[in-house]
Amino acid sequence: MSVPVFRFAPSPNGRLHLGHALSAWLNYDAALKRAGRFLVRIEDIDQIRCTPGKQRDMLEDLHWLGLDWEKPVYRQSDHFALYAAALQTLEDKGLAYRAYLTRSEIKAFVTSYEASGKVWSRDPDGAPLYPGDEAILSRTQLAERREKNTQFAVRLNMQAALNEVKQSLSWWEGASQWPEKQQRWMKGTRIAADPSIWGDVILARKDTPTSYHLSVVLDDARQNITDVIRGQDLYQATAIHRLLQDLLGLPEPRYRHHRLILDGNGAKLSKSTSATSLQALRAAGWNASRVLKEVGMFQSPSL
Ligand code: GLU
Repeated sequence: MSVPVFRFAPSPNGRLHLGHALSAWLNYDAALKRAGRFLVRIEDIDQIRCTPGKQRDMLEDLHWLGLDWEKPVYRQSDHFALYAAALQTLEDKGLAYRAYLTRSEIKAFVTSYEASGKVWSRDPDGAPLYPGDEAILSRTQLAERREKNTQFAVRLNMQAALNEVKQSLSWWEGASQWPEKQQRWMKGTRIAADPSIWGDVILARKDTPTSYHLSVVLDDARQNITDVIRGQDLYQATAIHRLLQDLLGLPEPRYRHHRLILDGNGAKLSKSTSATSLQALRAAGWNASRVLKEVGMFQSPSL
């Protein structure tokens, strides 16, 4: 059997918090227990919000947590050409198109649609599905925007993409009980994937040749990731990832989505709330063992 490869793939657009500590440690621990490899991937496609300083802080937090990873670290910003080539492939196959509606135009459209009591479909993150340029813009307006090309997003043509897929899509989801029990490793089930619930998702923008969905599948393949352990908030996104893997001929990793760490009000932790950042906890005198205990991770012998 080949060596399992795990990764922790944070976006350095803020400080890491307890949820990241759990995710990073679950991957690291799994790699240790299964004699696998552990990689850190910096998901910094948003070059404005992901600064070098935040990257440094993030790696320092991970080091403080007791993690060790293969060097050099893979940075998505070094691989824009890979994403652009895949995007071109999808465009050439007629599976992606330039979409010109702005966020506020979509919002206005949905508001007026729903004014009569009807409901416009939302994706699992709560965003309205893309109505299509023709729903709002006249032919002339659309032609003008195409000509000017000032702002656009490249979206997946979901219907065309689904027509392209030969077999039903699914993914392998590992048993979700944590903390880890060794014997649970190979337990899991196949989950049917329904990417249509996302509508025409964004694959890139005019100034950024990729989106999270596109780069994550390309990088998991390029880095030979066999096991993706990440938060439950990305569970539904796996359907898009399986679709893109199928369209681009990429291998399928195993997935496991872990519970999220919630704050006192039951809300997901956020990078913008500094109180639960690892940096703040460290400043308040916490050590790594205390963090792991707090997130329900076992006590590591090396800490
Ligand atoms: N970069 C993503 C995040 O910070 C995680 C991506 C993944 O694990 O698939 O939420």
